[in-house]
Amino acid sequence: MHSGSSLLKKIAVVGRGTAGSLAAAAVARFHPDPDHELHHIYDSRIPTLGVGEGTWPSLLPYLEQLTNLPDETIQQSVNGTRKYGLAFEGWGVRNQDFIHSFIPENVSYGYHLCADLMGELLRKSANARHIDAKVLNITRVDGGAQVEFVDLAPERYDLVFDARGFPRELHPDRHINVPFIPTNTAIIRRCPATVKAARNGPVLEHTYTRSIARPHGWAAVIPLTTHTAYGYIFNRDVTALAEVEADFDRLLETDGVAEFEPRAVIRFPNFIHRRIYDGAVCRIGNAAAFLEPLQATTIAAAQLQIGMILHTRFNRPAERLERDVPTVNRFLVKNMLYYGLFVGWHYHCGSKFDSAFWRHARDHAWPQHRDAAAPEVVDCDALQMFDEMVYLLNQSDIEKSDHNQAYGFSLGSYIQMSKGLGC
Ligand SMILES: Cc1cc2nc3c(=O)[nH]c(=O)nc-3n(C[C@H](O)[C@H](O)[C@H](O)COP(=O)(O)OP(=O)(O)OC[C@H]3O[C@@H](n4cnc5c(N)ncnc54)[C@H](O)[C@@H]3O)c2cc1C
Repeated sequence: MHSGSSLLKKIAVVGRGTAGSLAAAAVARFHPDPDHELHHIYDSRIPTLGVGEGTWPSLLPYLEQLTNLPDETIQQSVNGTRKYGLAFEGWGVRNQDFIHSFIPENVSYGYHLCADLMGELLRKSANARHIDAKVLNITRVDGGAQVEFVDLAPERYDLVFDARGFPRELHPDRHINVPFIPTNTAIIRRCPATVKAARNGPVLEHTYTRSIARPHGWAAVIPLTTHTAYGYIFNRDVTALAEVEADFDRLLETDGVAEFEPRAVIRFPNFIHRRIYDGAVCRIGNAAAFLEPLQATTIAAAQLQIGMILHTRFNRPAERLERDVPTVNRFLVKNMLYYGLFVGWHYHCGSKFDSAFWRHARDHAWPQHRDAAAPEVVDCDALQMFDEMVYLLNQSDIEKSDHNQAYGFSLGSYIQMSKGLGC
């Protein structure tokens, strides 16, 4: 049997957003053969999305491994604060604020961080040849993939990570549509910092991403040491931009924020690529899937996508490659759809607002989840896994030791959210 890594002499990562930067650093760090060739390709005229400031605890040891730097140094380099979970305001039927904390509570934390700075840090630790060029196509060829460029000759690679961000359009043959998530647009504003950087060392204060229900959607508040990021997430087909901007102004006024810098209005699709991995091309980050930012799933998902592909490719015998492909792909698709069902479920009992948005979310969008996630439509059993969680949630005798089971969102997450939402 041949080792899988012997077939990976030349690897490309296309895109230098968060996902591409993580992938390039991971290939450079974990490839068993120091003589491998790594090309990091991006078009510097196409900006990265630059948002993505909330992360999960799993990112921290990964960043330490990739950069060879201690946690404290990394936190300071990315203007980071320690995120212990999410603080929900006004969601559900109880009209009470609640926390969805990382488990173990008050111990486990991720970062709120500046995505651009994290990208820079990762790129410094990846030994790659940088190619600034526009990619036209990435196509599977015998035993690998070919990348075609504008103004450069095509190149063949053994494996390509496609991290080019959101697809331009969705196609039902290639993408699973996620209509049960009711949002599709974000307005981003940058406001003054509320957490001050410490003089010597990282900020130790416990912080939470605030997720505030608003009449037209919800707002995220993410505290970094240099600024506080505010995002208002809504549905442009339900509410006009001007109405949302006006409510955004009211929120900032209530929070006592006197000034802000408008940053962007971002339209996003909620979708999952049906072929995240085809054996030669692995889509990662926003090119693989997107499920609105409520539970900050994208960076964690990119980490899983990269980790899973590299692990199977480096450690499994080459002869198993073809047989592994559908299994790995189905696992990655299922994982994303399971995240999507958890996120959509947050809306299932509405919020303190009886508005057009919340009626749309609760009565129109969420009821579509069973059809949209039906196994015959999506070729995986994510819906069954979600149903099992909801079934367990309704049992009276759940052992505390069972709370942390499942990948991604554990039963403990479902219990916290269900108690908080009141249904
Ligand atoms: C409002 C909002 C809030 C979010 N909040 C979070 C959060 O808190 N946590 C989280 O984990 N995620 C969050 N996300 C998701 C976030 O977008 C991703 O985590 C992150 O930005 C990953 O982006 P990416 O690297 O996949 O793509 P991008 O940042 O879009 O990067 C794409 C890269 O591909 C290159 N490129 C594109 N086309 C070509 C081409 N043809 N040729 C060559 N190069 C090309 C570009 O130059 C760029 O380098 C949020 C998203 C939105 C919309």
